[in-house]
Amino acid sequence: MAKILFGYDTERFEEPSVTPHFLSKVSQIHREYQVPCTLFLVGKVIEAAADDIKPLVGDPLFDLQQHSYSHKPFKSYVIDFRGVPDEEIQNLEWLRGRPKVVVHRGLSLEEIEEQVTKTQECLRSYLGIEDNRGLTCPFAYYQGLLDRPEITDLLYDLGIRFVRSWGRDSRGWNPTPFDVQPFFYTAHGHDDMLEIPIQGWHDTLWKAQHGWTNVGGYVAMLKGALDEVLEHDYTWSFLAHDWSSIREDPEMSGIRAFIEHALEQDGLDFLSHSDFYEQALAEGQTE
Ligand SMILES: [Zn+2]
Repeated sequence: MAKILFGYDTERFEEPSVTPHFLSKVSQIHREYQVPCTLFLVGKVIEAAADDIKPLVGDPLFDLQQHSYSHKPFKSYVIDFRGVPDEEIQNLEWLRGRPKVVVHRGLSLEEIEEQVTKTQECLRSYLGIEDNRGLTCPFAYYQGLLDRPEITDLLYDLGIRFVRSWGRDSRGWNPTPFDVQPFFYTAHGHDDMLEIPIQGWHDTLWKAQHGWTNVGGYVAMLKGALDEVLEHDYTWSFLAHDWSSIREDPEMSGIRAFIEHALEQDGLDFLSHSDFYEQALAEGQTE
């Protein structure tokens, strides 16, 4: 059966007004439709907005996991636009005047450990969450952490059991192909540590490339992606962000329209990332 896991990276500590606005809309929509989701929280957001997050603690519709402390890439990654026609990327303001190959350097293992443990401490001390097992790696990468076993070793030791780290194609961009499906890090010796790839488009990258005001186009893209998921019984870890979900769409009408559409489909299961992890573990689903 096809599955959709809604995941929201909640990360905009630089703009304190974003978190309460986003949380009020996302909680309203997911409660109205009784669709579960996972919020991947940046530690600095927890520090700044714990009172806004607290009402979601303990609600089974909201799975609260982490997205590092201050949102820096765990792994170096490359965005390579050579060979991509200029028209296709003309809207990408941050790319103008820069070379077509962009490299973002990843953190050291010591820095990664600090990023994860500080956020676990934030979850514990501000929200009473003791069992953080899930992590979305900032920015997400081609091949996830498959080529960095020393990072999965570290994360495993810190108690992390599922990661969303694979979220780019071979150019370091999107969409990430849907045939990249969840797998356990058995190749690293971690039989119970699951990669849950983020496929399709990061909402941020699609909107940057195709226009922030084009809410209809965004929803149409999501519907097309869902058709592919349903056709192949794929598992889709859906990614949207706090700040980008409300930019040019303060009511989150795009997300609402897509959830309404998804609920009308036959053969689609809605799960949080934690529940999906438990299910995958029980089924011993490995590749
Ligand atoms: Zn992020």
